[in-house]
Amino acid sequence: MSQRIQSIRGMHDVLPAENALWRTLETVAERVFGNYGYEQIRLPIMERTGLFERGVGDTTDIVEKELYSFADRGGESLSLRPEGTASAVRAGIEHGLLHNANQRLWYSGPMFRYERPQKGRQRQFHQFGVEAFGAIGPDVDIEQVALSARLFANLGISGLRLEINTLGTPAERAVYRDALHAYFSARHDRLDADSVRRLDRNPLRILDSKNTDMASLIAEAPTLRDYLGAESAAHFQGLCDGLELLGIAYTINPRLVRGLDYYTRTVFEWLTDELGAQNAVCSGGRFDGLVGELGGSDTPATGFALGIERVVALMEAQNVPLIDLKPQVYLVHVGAGASAAAMAERLRDVLPDLRLRMHTGGGSFKSQFKKADRSGARLALVLGDDEVQTDTIQIKPLADDRAQERVAQRDAPARIAQLLGSTTAG
Ligand code: ATP
Ligand code: MG
Repeated sequence: MSQRIQSIRGMHDVLPAENALWRTLETVAERVFGNYGYEQIRLPIMERTGLFERGVGDTTDIVEKELYSFADRGGESLSLRPEGTASAVRAGIEHGLLHNANQRLWYSGPMFRYERPQKGRQRQFHQFGVEAFGAIGPDVDIEQVALSARLFANLGISGLRLEINTLGTPAERAVYRDALHAYFSARHDRLDADSVRRLDRNPLRILDSKNTDMASLIAEAPTLRDYLGAESAAHFQGLCDGLELLGIAYTINPRLVRGLDYYTRTVFEWLTDELGAQNAVCSGGRFDGLVGELGGSDTPATGFALGIERVVALMEAQNVPLIDLKPQVYLVHVGAGASAAAMAERLRDVLPDLRLRMHTGGGSFKSQFKKADRSGARLALVLGDDEVQTDTIQIKPLADDRAQERVAQRDAPARIAQLLGSTTAG
């Protein structure tokens, strides 16, 4: 026997049993995005590597060590996208979507990062991304926090914490960067290897360290808030006031920085205590510098990305109500020949939403009923010689003790709809 090929480490199949979680999230998310007037954009999974070097930042973890890059057959360096914002901006510039417009876009799909796989951290993971272009905020910043809050509420997820912060403008950050650099340089002996590497390249990234030994050093570091100009301070105050007006609870975390270099002013993150170390389920903020950085005319922008696997894990942990994807009806048949398939097609014609699984592969009534039970269907339809001859069908409820009934085939769709209607919650 030849050797089995397995999936790549950190890249997972989503099996049908888990899919109701995904579909519920997708259904609710797409509805909420529409509620807020966001339109879907579909973006390629690969881009030129240079897009991410410029658009994500070549001193970020993502570009320094997590990018899946390779030369294509023409020798050009391409990368699997590690996030969607750079592509959304690239597409926006390329198609003239951003000029004098208030664009609101969303997308979803797989992202790729060469990370150490662990619980809540994959190499292929999935995100929903939401981006708004052309508004300086803070109204749209508030809107996006509200949108994400509503999404979690509509999913039935509770207990998330919202942290917000401001990163100021690049000019304000430059002054702050110098102050941070001076602070950490004076304490060089207490820095871990990652932080030493970040010290000269991007000392703000030290604040993002996940090393608990660094925590007290980081806690005492200067904070950006002391370096904000009047406009940035007012923008941040506007965000805080807006969230209060909407009744959205938050805490200000002055250490909250993003892994991505292009953020300005607002940053926010939804966190959970239920998933262990991988506690960020949704992260976003403002990136007024990115469109210009990628060759477009300066356009204010703000967005967030939601980690689908982590939200799915939370939905599972909190046992939220899910969309039912199981078959509703299982068609059992012995000796009925092609009339079983004909019956199934007729039902699908009349009841377009019906989820009907027709038994295939023969076997006794008994073994077929076992499969019907296992399928999760509420009803078994039974077709044997007798039923074919009398143009009838038997309907057997599987989920409760109601009696089996025989109906004329022409009456079957209405009766099935009636029985399902009385046992489904919608
Ligand atoms: P982390 O600090 O957990 O590495 P990040 O700052 O790199 O997150 P972002 O780039 O902001 O994450 O991505 C947005 C969201 O995508 C995160 O909040 C998280 O939910 C999810 N995410 C990021 N990386 C992964 C991964 N490797 N596996 C699963 N989900 C991820
Ligand atoms: Mg990361």
